[in-house]
Amino acid sequence: MARVTVTVSFDNAAQVLLPPEPGLPYLRTNRAKELTLDPGGITVNNDGVIAATTPSEDADLHVDAIGCALLPGLVDCHTHLPFAGWRAHEYEQKVTGVPYEEIAKAGGGIASSARALRETPDDAVLLQAREIAAEMLQNGTTTFECKSGYGLSREGELRALKLAAELGRNVAQTTTRTALLAHAVPDGYTADTWMDEVEAMIPEASGYATALDIFVESIAFGLEHLDRMGTLAARHNLRLRAHVEQFSTMRSVPVALRHNARSLDHLSAIHPDDIGPLGGSNTAAVLLPGAEFMGKEATAPARDLIDAGAIVVLATDGNPGTSPIFSLPLIIGLGVRRYGLSTKEALLATTLNAAYVLDLAETTGSIEPGKRADLILLDSPSEHVAYRLGRDSVAATFVAGEPVYVRPDAAWRIMKR
Ligand SMILES: [Zn+2]
Repeated sequence: MARVTVTVSFDNAAQVLLPPEPGLPYLRTNRAKELTLDPGGITVNNDGVIAATTPSEDADLHVDAIGCALLPGLVDCHTHLPFAGWRAHEYEQKVTGVPYEEIAKAGGGIASSARALRETPDDAVLLQAREIAAEMLQNGTTTFECKSGYGLSREGELRALKLAAELGRNVAQTTTRTALLAHAVPDGYTADTWMDEVEAMIPEASGYATALDIFVESIAFGLEHLDRMGTLAARHNLRLRAHVEQFSTMRSVPVALRHNARSLDHLSAIHPDDIGPLGGSNTAAVLLPGAEFMGKEATAPARDLIDAGAIVVLATDGNPGTSPIFSLPLIIGLGVRRYGLSTKEALLATTLNAAYVLDLAETTGSIEPGKRADLILLDSPSEHVAYRLGRDSVAATFVAGEPVYVRPDAAWRIMKR
């Protein structure tokens, strides 16, 4: 964990993203326009906590934010780190028209990543994940979620969770762990018998995770398994999260809402009748435009969800199969274009509301006194993130007030008094 022992003042920013009031656990996306992006600065205490939303002349360190947008560090609440290797060959097959069944029959898909993880030593898995985490830092991500799910056996899932814990100790970001224990039905099991195995491994897995996750889909697990996972989550005091309505309309939403799921992720094929109840609940709608784009999936009805009051979140779904993207600025650009989000809606969806999904909104996700100074400095107005799609606009990333990434051409901005 980064540590500063000096006070820091961020001066003269063209935009500072501030919440409409302090202490919000989340902000429903239909209130995003209440966020402000006015010029200003902030002061960070010598313990890495935000002291004031005004600059301070007496600070030990000054960051010249002239022309910049100062934003909370981005929060990626849905990734599949750590994993082993990539699946670029499959992507080429997919875009050139090879049917998924054929790819799967040749050993591709989740089974391929499970095999790679099994065959790769711990050091190599961690090295790849640390390199990805460093890229994420360059793209402004100061908090991210890790998931298991490529273990596909009791030992494999526990190993993945332990590797995720080890990763968390070796990166600048804050990380969380989700036990995606029902990702695919392993060979030799039915969905039902695998859920028995899941139930048996949760007591041990729960020591490493804050949430349980399940992939509800015609090719994976059904509503009865989601229902069972919800019961298990409550019993073990873990949050329920679920991959739902990605390819098929399964009507998972009512089942998950009964279990007070913390988030429902994907929702590209959500049934229109489920939008209202989801929008009225405290369950976040995590949309994954990278997976939709790379997989040529349907587009989630983001505007309808927002109109219904939903807590909308954007995340990368970073994984070697369906979304090998780890840049939240790129995801913001895709979200703005595909869902018709405003800049404030997209920023809210990748900061405070994403922190809510990970249960971290008390300490990060917005710029307010008392929260950790996880911050990013963009060298452009924040509207340019989506507009100049794919451009690297992150000039510097700060964790607890400490500059953990500074783009070389922005080094002049950080000055001792
Ligand atoms: Zn996922």
